[in-house]
Amino acid sequence: MGTMDESELCVSECSRCPALVDSRSRIVNGTGPEDADVLFVGEGPGAQEDSEGEPFVGRSGSVLDDGLRSVGLIREDVRITNCVRCRPPENRDPSTEELENCRGYLEREIDLLDPEIIVTLGKVPSEHLLGRSVAVTKEAGSIEEIRIDGTPRRVLLCVHPAATLYDRSQEDTFTDALARAAELAGVDGDGGSGQTRLDGF
Ligand code: URA
Repeated sequence: MGTMDESELCVSECSRCPALVDSRSRIVNGTGPEDADVLFVGEGPGAQEDSEGEPFVGRSGSVLDDGLRSVGLIREDVRITNCVRCRPPENRDPSTEELENCRGYLEREIDLLDPEIIVTLGKVPSEHLLGRSVAVTKEAGSIEEIRIDGTPRRVLLCVHPAATLYDRSQEDTFTDALARAAELAGVDGDGGSGQTRLDGF
């Protein structure tokens, strides 16, 4: 039903979700190093992501980039992916069935990457990975140990970057969670020089 390409982190062909096959222009795979320490998981591609073929390249992506920089990380050092790889029509939330259809690809990406920390960006990825309802604004910054495909994983809950655009009071919640992710990845918050210690230490 779906075909992984040679890096095995990417899906090159899939037609499991008829509505998404209709609404997508392309499959949007994760980006970033195949051995990144931090994996960000969003909900699914929006219009800009669908058009460029890369996760978080629209307005939410600028918020994420700024947030990463403010805690001493840069996009090129982290991996960024989504729960579903095809854009849902009218940017609706992915259905339970669509999330399940794409689950194997996400689990495979997590398995191959083997990150130090998985950061869930918003309610949908948080609930999808934790398998329970999540009050994400209240729980942002907390870390949960869960098993994904049998392997213990650390998941750090975070609000969606777009939440900071609608509600400025979410900015600190967002940045504090990113700071925690940077700390767990062994990066010292250097206030945004872009220098990280992810490589070589
Ligand atoms: N929002 C998401 O959840 N994912 C993206 O890739 C872009 C915006």
